[in-house]
Amino acid sequence: MTQTVCCDPRWRTATKLVRGGLTRSEFNETSEALYMSSGYVYESAEEAEAAFAGDKDRYIYSRYANPTLSMLEERLALLEGAEACATTASGMAAVFAALACQVEAGDYVVASRALFGSCLYIVTDILPRLGVETRVVDGTNLAEWEEALSRKTKCVFLETPTNPTLEIIDLAAVSALAHKAGARVIVDNVFSTPMLQRPLQLGADIVVYSTTKHIDGQGRALGGAILCDKEFHKEFVTPFMRHTGPAMSPFNAWICLKGLETLDLRVRQHCQNALQIARFLEAQATLDRVIYPGLESHPQHELCKRQMSGASTVVSFELTGGKETAFKFLNALEIIDLSNNLGDAKSLITHPQTTTHQRLSEDEREQLGIGGGLVRLSVGLEDPLDLQDDLGRALDFAQL
Ligand SMILES: *Cc1c(COP(=O)(O)O)cnc(C)c1O
Repeated sequence: MTQTVCCDPRWRTATKLVRGGLTRSEFNETSEALYMSSGYVYESAEEAEAAFAGDKDRYIYSRYANPTLSMLEERLALLEGAEACATTASGMAAVFAALACQVEAGDYVVASRALFGSCLYIVTDILPRLGVETRVVDGTNLAEWEEALSRKTKCVFLETPTNPTLEIIDLAAVSALAHKAGARVIVDNVFSTPMLQRPLQLGADIVVYSTTKHIDGQGRALGGAILCDKEFHKEFVTPFMRHTGPAMSPFNAWICLKGLETLDLRVRQHCQNALQIARFLEAQATLDRVIYPGLESHPQHELCKRQMSGASTVVSFELTGGKETAFKFLNALEIIDLSNNLGDAKSLITHPQTTTHQRLSEDEREQLGIGGGLVRLSVGLEDPLDLQDDLGRALDFAQL
C-alpha cells in the first residue's frame, strides 16, 4: 500500500516544491516512485465492480489517474494554492482541455490578442468551427476588455506577460470585468511560472501551464497542467480528460516532480541573469529597444511590480536594420542556441517573425509589435558574463 507522507498547506513554497504530494510505497523509497503502468489489477471481480461503480476509490486505468501523476498534481495544486489539478500530455492539451471542457455552440469567448501561436489558433480557428463566437482584444487596453465584456461571456483567456513582447495584463482588473459578464477567467501562466505570479489570488478561476517550459526546465519532457477549484475539476475537467485522453506519461510526470524540486532556485537565477542581460542590452546604443518588465523603461513596470514577484526569465530586443541584421546576429552567436523553446537551463533565442509568429499576417504582427528586428531571448543558467560576451560579439559582428 502507498501512503502519503505528511503534507501541510501552510508549508512555505520551497518546502512544497520538494515534498508536496509525496506518497511512498511499502519500500519507503526516498525519491518519488515512477509507476510506469497503464493499468491496475483487482483482488476480485467484486472489487472491480465496486471500482467502476465509484464505490471504491482506487486506480483503474492511467488515462484516468496514475500514482506518479497524482503526486505531481498534488504538488502543483499545493504550490498554486488551487483546490485541484489535472496534468496533460502537453501545454496545448491543457489549454485546449480547459476551454473545450466547458464551451458549447452558441457560447461567446473573449481572449487577448498576444497569445502563444497555437493558443491563438484555438481561439480564432478551432472554437469558431465548433460554433463558439470568439473575440480578441488588446490585452493592455481595459476599455477594449470592458466593451468586449459588455455581454454574457462564457470565458476569458489570456496570457501575461505576453509572448514575445512582454506586455503585462492587469489580472485583477480583467478578472473583475469578466466576472461581471459571468465569465470564468483562464490564465496561461507559462511565462510567469508559479514562482512569479499567482493568478488565482488576483481573481482568475483557472490557471494553465506548459510544464515543458520552466517546470521541467531542462528540455526533456512535454507536459501541461490545469489548476482550478474542485467543482470545476469534477464537473468539467475530469470527464473531458477521461474520455478524450490527453493524459501525461508517468515518466514525464516523474521528470516534472524532480524539476519542481529546483524550480524556486532556477527561476530566481533565471530572473537575476535576465535582469543583468537586459541592463547590458539597454546600454548598447545599436539596439532600437530592449523589452524587460523589470526595467524602469518598461511601460508597465509598476503593474509588473504590483502583480508579479519577479519580472520574467525572457528578454526581448529589437535590432536596428530589421530581419537581415537580426539573422546575421543570430547566426553569429556561439553559446546561445537558436530554438523556439524557453524556460530551459540553456539560453535559447528565436526570431518570432519567421518562426513562432510566421503564420500571422503582416497586419497581425504589426498589431503585436513583432517586426523583422525583434528577437526573443530565454535567458538560461549559464554565467551571465559569458552570455554578455556572446551577445556583445554577435551584435558587433551584425552591425559592422
Ligand atoms: C509553450 C507554450 C504553450 C504550449 O505548451 P506545449 O507544452 O508546447 O504544448 C502554451 N502557452 C505558452 C505561453 C507557451 O509558452
